[in-house]
Amino acid sequence: MKILLNNTSLFESLRPFNDLGFVPTMGGIHKGHLSLINKSNKLCKKTIVSIFVNPKQFNNEKDLRSYPRNIKRDLKILKKSKKVDFVYIPKFKDIYKDKKTSKIRLIKKDKILCAKFRKGHFEGVLDVMNKLTKIINPQKIFMGEKDFQQLYLVKKQLETNYKTKIIPCKTIRDKNNVALSSRNFLLNKSYLKVAANIYKKLKNIKKNINKKKNISDFLKSQTKELRNNYKIKIDYLELRNIKNLKISSTNKNSRLFIAYYLNNVRLIDNL
Ligand code: AMP
Repeated sequence: MKILLNNTSLFESLRPFNDLGFVPTMGGIHKGHLSLINKSNKLCKKTIVSIFVNPKQFNNEKDLRSYPRNIKRDLKILKKSKKVDFVYIPKFKDIYKDKKTSKIRLIKKDKILCAKFRKGHFEGVLDVMNKLTKIINPQKIFMGEKDFQQLYLVKKQLETNYKTKIIPCKTIRDKNNVALSSRNFLLNKSYLKVAANIYKKLKNIKKNINKKKNISDFLKSQTKELRNNYKIKIDYLELRNIKNLKISSTNKNSRLFIAYYLNNVRLIDNL
């Protein structure tokens, strides 16, 4: 496993390879990331993982400062997996010295879910994904369905502008069904227990949704119940179609999307 700390060594090392799988991460490596890496390892000759906490996608300074960082631990896990050929750990200037790219704007119909509640977040994500794709030029990029809206927007943008294919990967959960996330490192056991109970409740809501005449009213009342029972702040709880992310009136081809705060840590999930 070769560690690439700047673009010069990246360009030199990647030059011979034309079947590259790329797994972009912000570190805090967990089994969710490893499942993407496994898939890349199966489908591509070489796998490159990036670790870059992209400041431009944080709409909140405190969130950026507290984001879990532990490069030593991350590298140990990646090495142990024996599935990673390259780890790219760029500096800010490696990504942002090329200022030529045009400014990214979301169209109105995409300003939903996290885009509505985290102003500027996806503009930052799309910008960094554009830049990483230009620098690395991978054949495939592996991304998790846990961040479904991110996957949807990145796929739409990159597949119209590059030859690169975006490969969606299933959400990996812990034994209590809580979606793995680097942010879970910021929660103690009792908060993770609450997250597990919230998952159970969401599963139940999803199961019962088709029996309801007015889904929007049903979800409003369930949001209230979740807020009161678990003392959490909820940004949204919405049923949306997975093809176009429009509000859905049936479970078919749809997922229940949630973003909520537990002990000031923002968690998202979809099921
Ligand atoms: P992050 O480091 O949180 O930016 O995530 C890097 C990539 O891993 C993204 O494509 C995420 O969607 C994906 N990912 C994060 N958590 C999970 C999970 N629990 N299961 C599958 N993929 C995940």
